[in-house]
This record gives sequence, C-alpha cells and structure tokens, in this order.
Amino acid sequence: MKKIAVLTSGGDSPGMNAAIRAVVKTALYKGVVPFGIYDGFMGMIEGRGKVLTYNDVDNIIQYGGTVLGSARCEEFRTLEGRKKAIAFLEKEGVEGLVVIGGDGSYTGASLLSKEMNIPIIGLPGTIDNDIFGTDHTIGFDTALNTVIDAVDKIRDTASSHHRVFFVEVMGRDAGFIALHSAIASGAEYALIPEEKTDLVKLSADIRENSGARRGTIIIVAEGDDAGNAMEIMNKVKPMLPGFDLRHSVLGHIQRGGNPSVKDRILATRLGNEAVHRLLAGETNMALGMKGDEIVACPISRAIKEHAMPDARLLTLLKELHTIGGSERALKN
Ligand code: ATP
Repeated sequence: MKKIAVLTSGGDSPGMNAAIRAVVKTALYKGVVPFGIYDGFMGMIEGRGKVLTYNDVDNIIQYGGTVLGSARCEEFRTLEGRKKAIAFLEKEGVEGLVVIGGDGSYTGASLLSKEMNIPIIGLPGTIDNDIFGTDHTIGFDTALNTVIDAVDKIRDTASSHHRVFFVEVMGRDAGFIALHSAIASGAEYALIPEEKTDLVKLSADIRENSGARRGTIIIVAEGDDAGNAMEIMNKVKPMLPGFDLRHSVLGHIQRGGNPSVKDRILATRLGNEAVHRLLAGETNMALGMKGDEIVACPISRAIKEHAMPDARLLTLLKELHTIGGSERALKN
C-alpha cells in the first residue's frame, strides 16, 4: 500500500485533528504517502484533496474542529455520487482509506469499500458517544468537560435563588452526554432518550426532595421523549406551583474547544493503529477502545448495533439524589 487517504465526516468533534495528525505522521513513518480529502465525502465527490506533509499536521493536535473540514453529503448516498468519488480515488492512486466520523459515515464508507474494493478503517469521531464497539468516541470527553463547566456556573445561580433549572445538552438519539455530565456536575436528574420520561413522577420527586436542596438541576438530552428542555419545563410548571423554573440550552459550544487530554490520547492511538491495520491488510473494521486496549469490530456490526448508556449510572443518580429515610429521621 503506497497511498492512504484520510477524511473527517458528519458532525465535527474535538480530537479529530489529533486523529488526522496521527494517521499522517504514522503513514510517513511507514513510508506511505498520506492524502487528505477535504470536507468528507463531499470533497471526495468534488475531487478536492492533497498530499499531506509532516508540516501540514505539525501544530494541530491542540485545536478543536477539523483542519480537513467536514460535511454532510446527500449525493454520496447515491450510486452516481459514489462513482464520482471512486473515480477521484482511482485517479489519485489511493489504496487505503481512514474515515473519521459517526455511524452514518461508517455506512457510506462501507458501501464505498464494497463498490471500489478499497480497504477502509473507521475511527469513531462524534461527541455523542453513540458508536457501538468502543467505550468512548473521539470528542465525547471534551464535550463533557464543556458541559460540566457550564452546569457548574448555572449551579451558582440555581442554588442562590433556589431555582429548578432544565439544562439541554446535545444527544438527539443518545443520552450519554446527559447522563455522564449529570453524574460529573452533581445534577439531580438526567432525562435521556433511552429511558421513558415520566414528568408526573419527576415533579413529585422534585417537590418531595426540594426541601433539602438549595437548587435543582435537570440535564435534558435534546432528543428526550418528553420534549426539549423548554417544552419539559412548560409541561411540569402546573405541577410545581411556587417553584422558580428556568431553562438553558447549551447548544453548539458543546462541539468546540481544545480537545481534552483524554481525547487527544484516544485519537492519537486510534489514528496510529488505523494505519498499522491497513498496512497489515485489514479492512472494513471500526476501531475503538475498551479499557486501555484498542479493539476492532466489523464496520457492519458497528452500524447495526446500538451503544447504550450504562443503566447503573441512572440508579447511581437516583441513589445520590433521593433524600433517604435516615436524613428525614434526623430532621424530625
Ligand atoms: P454524527 O454522529 O456527527 O451525526 P455521522 O457520521 O453519523 O456523524 P451523518 O450525517 O449521518 O453523520 O453521515 C455523514 C455522511 O455519511 C452523510 O452526509 C453521507 O454523505 C454519508 N452517509 C450516511 N448514511 C449513508 C448511507 N446510508 N449511504 C451512503 N452514505 C451515507
């Protein structure tokens, strides 16, 4: 294999640059030419890319976003679109491909691999952590740190004014960010798409436990079945008379910022491994990390199966934030 291309696709996530850098530097170390494709599959269709040098990636590990750019590309979903992409890869003499993105990107990559018969390795690049076959995705840890920084600030005002705050975080289909940030920020509740939300029960719980709390924080994944943070706040309002309810949507700040140490190391290890695996003749594998071990599973499986948040964390939240009988006894 003489030339390996790399691209980033789908939503950007902090750490993608560290992954690109590791792919390029490892390829150069192994005597392979690294080739960067701009703006994901869109750039592949439009024939935009260039050979990358050590210098191109020498000062990017610390930056969020992706220096190659990313895109969502409808045309790539069509055979015609993918034929244009294949023509470009053939013209450039690309013999292997590293795709950094979410499961949509994995699906596109796997079709391309079949139609062109080109070896492909997928790296999990998304803040949502919703990719099967890895404990964590590239960008998840940084997004969590951004969320808890914001929630810590919201907590100051929530507790000073005894408010109930509904904080909306990203996660259209997955509650990893909501659940993990709730644990890490000390929020009292996490409402996630994977668990049915019962607003009557939530309101009763807030009423029951509010006496012992200075304020209440509820982290809401944007895709929760009961609605977004503002909708949920409006629905529970009649059930919480006398409570001061507020909502806050954290939005796109969650995608940006300098990657955390954890994301830099994860991305660097996976980028390096992707090149080694391509050179060893592997194809159609999605890489990830379980504990401290790099693991691989077929891309087809990573696409088909769903990553689920750990239900034990929901129990943990409940146990930490329900005022127990012994405390009630002490008060009486
Ligand atoms: P994120 O988790 O950030 O949303 P993602 O990789 O899942 O990342 P998508 O928008 O779902 O993001 O997919 C990225 C791109 O992959 C799409 O814009 C499209 O070009 C390609 N893609 C997705 N699904 C398919 C498919 N079924 N067939 C061909 N290409 C696809």
